[in-house]
Amino acid sequence: MKIINTDIAIMGSGLAGLSAAVTALEKGARVAVFEKRPFQGGGVSNTPMMTLAVRDDQAYKDKAFKLHMEYTNWNANPDVVRSWIDNSSRIPDFIRGLGIEFAGSMMNPLEELGTKRGYGAGFPNAFHIGDYYYLKPIGQGHGAAVICKKMADRVKALGGELHFSTPIQSLIKEGDKVVGALAKDKEGNTVQINAKAVIVASGGFSDDKELLAELGLKLTDKNCSDGGNVVFNHFCNAQLTADGQKAVWKIGGARSGMAVNGHNMCPGPGIVAHNVGWIHRNKLRTVQEQPYLWVNHKGERFISEEQSDCHMAMVTAINNTKEKYAYLVFDEDTAKHMEEDGVEYFYFIFKAVKLTDVRKQFEEVIAKGNKHVFLTDTLEDLADQTGIRKEALLKTIETYNGYCDQGYDAQYAKDPKYLFPVRKSKFYAMRVFVGGYHAYGGIKVNGRCEVLDKDFDVIQGLYAAGDCCASEIYGNPPVGGIGVSTLSFAQGFITADQATAYVQQ
Ligand SMILES: Cc1cc2nc3c(=O)[nH]c(=O)nc-3n(C[C@H](O)[C@H](O)[C@H](O)COP(=O)(O)OP(=O)(O)OC[C@H]3O[C@@H](n4cnc5c(N)ncnc54)[C@H](O)[C@@H]3O)c2cc1C
Repeated sequence: MKIINTDIAIMGSGLAGLSAAVTALEKGARVAVFEKRPFQGGGVSNTPMMTLAVRDDQAYKDKAFKLHMEYTNWNANPDVVRSWIDNSSRIPDFIRGLGIEFAGSMMNPLEELGTKRGYGAGFPNAFHIGDYYYLKPIGQGHGAAVICKKMADRVKALGGELHFSTPIQSLIKEGDKVVGALAKDKEGNTVQINAKAVIVASGGFSDDKELLAELGLKLTDKNCSDGGNVVFNHFCNAQLTADGQKAVWKIGGARSGMAVNGHNMCPGPGIVAHNVGWIHRNKLRTVQEQPYLWVNHKGERFISEEQSDCHMAMVTAINNTKEKYAYLVFDEDTAKHMEEDGVEYFYFIFKAVKLTDVRKQFEEVIAKGNKHVFLTDTLEDLADQTGIRKEALLKTIETYNGYCDQGYDAQYAKDPKYLFPVRKSKFYAMRVFVGGYHAYGGIKVNGRCEVLDKDFDVIQGLYAAGDCCASEIYGNPPVGGIGVSTLSFAQGFITADQATAYVQQ
C-alpha cells in the first residue's frame, strides 16, 4: 500500500478543489490534490465562464444577501449564503493573480440589484446580486479550463501535490475526527492518505442514475432516445457519481438536498452538439426561450409563459408535469414574427435577436432524425405526432386564441405583449425536457464549510466546497438552482482558510 502524508487532502480538481489548494498552499499548509480523471478540471469546471462577485461593500452585500434569502423563502442555509456572498469579492483578484485578464465585466449598481434576470440571464431576478466577470473563451468556449490549468500550475509551483487518475474512495475517521482517506491509483494500488484535514470538492451527480431516479428522473443521452427525461449539457462522460457525498454519508455525514439544475432543453440531433452539450447548432435554442404557448402532454397550459427566460422557473414547472417534459407550440405567423420583428427573449450564449428561416431550420433538424421537433400542416397532425392529447390541445388553443384576441390572459395574466395566437398553418412544436448543466448537492455544511453529521454537529477535520454542497444555497428544491463558479471559488477560499487554521492549531 502506498502512503501519502500531508496536511490537507483535497478530493477533486475542479474550480472548488483547486482554488482551495492554491489558497491553502499560499497560507503555508502542505496540500495534496486527488483527482479521479487523468487531468484537472473534471467534466464540469472545464466550461465557458462568466462568474459573479458581490462587491466588498456592506450595503451591497446586505442587499444581495436579503434578495437571495427572500427568493428561497429563507429555506437556504443563511450562514452558507452569507459566507459565499462575503467571500465572492475575492474572486476577481484571485483570477487576475493567476495571470488571467477578463475579457470584460458588467458592473451592476446597488439600486439595480434584483431588477433583471440573475447571473447574466436565465436565473430569477433575485439572483441578480453582483458584478459579472467574463472570461475569454478558447476553443469551444472553455474559459474555465484555462483557470483550472493555471491553478494546477500554481499548485505545483507552490510545492503542492497533484495525483491524477487517483479517485478517493472513502474517508478515514478516528473518533470524531477525519484523519485521511483511501484512494486507488491508476495501477489499482490502494493509497492511504494521512491528512490532518480533508476537503471534499468532488462535484455533483449527473452520471448517477440511481440518485437521479430518487428525483423521479431517468438519465438519457443527448438525443433523449431511450425514453429518459433528463438531459445534461456538460461535456461527455463527466463521471460525476457523487463519490464525495457517498464517502461523507458513509462516515455519518448528514444528507442535504440534491437537485437537477435549471436549464430546460429540447435535445436531439441538429440542436445539441454531441460532445459539448452546451453548444447549440442553430437558432432553435433561441426559439425554445420564447414566451409563446407552452402546454404539457395533456394539452394544458402549466405556467405563465412570460417565465420562459427564467430557466429555473421553467424547469421547475416542467418537472411538476406528470411526464416531466412539455411543448412549445406556435404557428407560421409567429415564426415570421421571430424573423421580421425579432424574438421576445434572446438566449444568453447566442444573442440572436432576429431569426432566419425558422421553418427551414425545423425541416433540417427533422431530416436529421430529431424526434422532439415537429412541423405539421394541421393542429390535428401536431397532436398525432407529438402525442399531446388532441381534444384538450384544440380546446386550449381555442381558449388561448381568445385571450390573444381580447388582449388579456384570464388564466395566468401573462403580459399581453406575449400573447400570440396559434392559428395559421404551418404549426410548430418543440418537446422540451428537464435538464441542466449538471446535478448538484448532497453534503450538509455550515457557513464555515465544515461538514455536519446527522445531528448537525461538525465532523472535525472535514470540509466541503462547490457543487457537492450547492443545494445549501437554494433551499433544497428538487430541480432549479444551478451549481455556479462563484460558489465553487468562494467555498474553495473558505475551506482553505478554515482547514489551514485547523491544521496549524
Ligand atoms: C456547460 C456548463 C457551463 C457552465 N457555465 C458556467 C458559467 O458560465 N458560470 C458559472 O458560474 N458556472 C457555470 N457552470 C457551473 C460551474 O462550472 C460549476 O458549478 C463548477 O465548475 C463546479 O465546480 P466544482 O469544483 O464544485 O465541481 P467539478 O467541476 O465537478 O469538479 C469536481 C472534480 O472532482 C473530481 N472527482 C469526482 N469524484 C472524485 C473522486 N472520487 N476522487 C477524486 N476526484 C473526484 C471530478 O472528476 C472533478 O474534476 C457551468 C457548468 C456547465 C456544465
